[in-house]
Amino acid sequence: MLEFPHDTHTHTEYSDGIGSITDNIASAEEKGLKLLGITDHSHYLSPKSLKRYVADIKRWGAMSEITVLAGIEGNITPSGVDVPDWVAEKLDYVIASVHEWLETPEEYIELVKLALKDDNVDVIGHFGANFPYIGFPPMEELREVIELAEENGKAFEISSRYHVPDVEFVAECIKRGIKLTFASDAHFPAGVGRVTWSERVFKKAGGRKEDLLFGEFL
Ligand SMILES: [Zn+2]
Ligand SMILES: [Zn+2]
Repeated sequence: MLEFPHDTHTHTEYSDGIGSITDNIASAEEKGLKLLGITDHSHYLSPKSLKRYVADIKRWGAMSEITVLAGIEGNITPSGVDVPDWVAEKLDYVIASVHEWLETPEEYIELVKLALKDDNVDVIGHFGANFPYIGFPPMEELREVIELAEENGKAFEISSRYHVPDVEFVAECIKRGIKLTFASDAHFPAGVGRVTWSERVFKKAGGRKEDLLFGEFL
């Protein structure tokens, strides 16, 4: 059983997931989650399907006993995050993630900094997922990222899919009042709520309910 039962990063057939919104909600209910976020990839959603997407999440969410939030996972590109104002304002929150193939950790950090300065972004998705492949950034660059996040009120998700960020990074976030969330990044209904790794790291880092972005719902 999870002490902080929530999952703020799940996909459905609105992007590259295989389940419906109701499937994800049903799975979250079965697993005893108190909060579920649906966060399909921004580049799959047209203006028309975005409208339907948000309406579906709200409609099915209202029929559930748990809190269901309408989010999105945007891409951080060299020209910024691909979630414009008119999209962000329809949603409860925005995750921004690096999905580009990069050569160096410095390039990765530069992209993340763009998202940390973007008013539409609430959460940085799977921060550091590429580091095992492109190399780990020096400590001072990580410190800059943490400082920018603190300054701009951004949160980080703890990703059970990619096992990032590490416990030291999470502990530093907690120390500075940077909020955290748990993320399965599930692309199929059965994967919703698989956030055991997130909770373990969060607790190991000394996290308490007030350190969670959506702690009020738990
Ligand atoms: Zn992602
Ligand atoms: Zn994702």
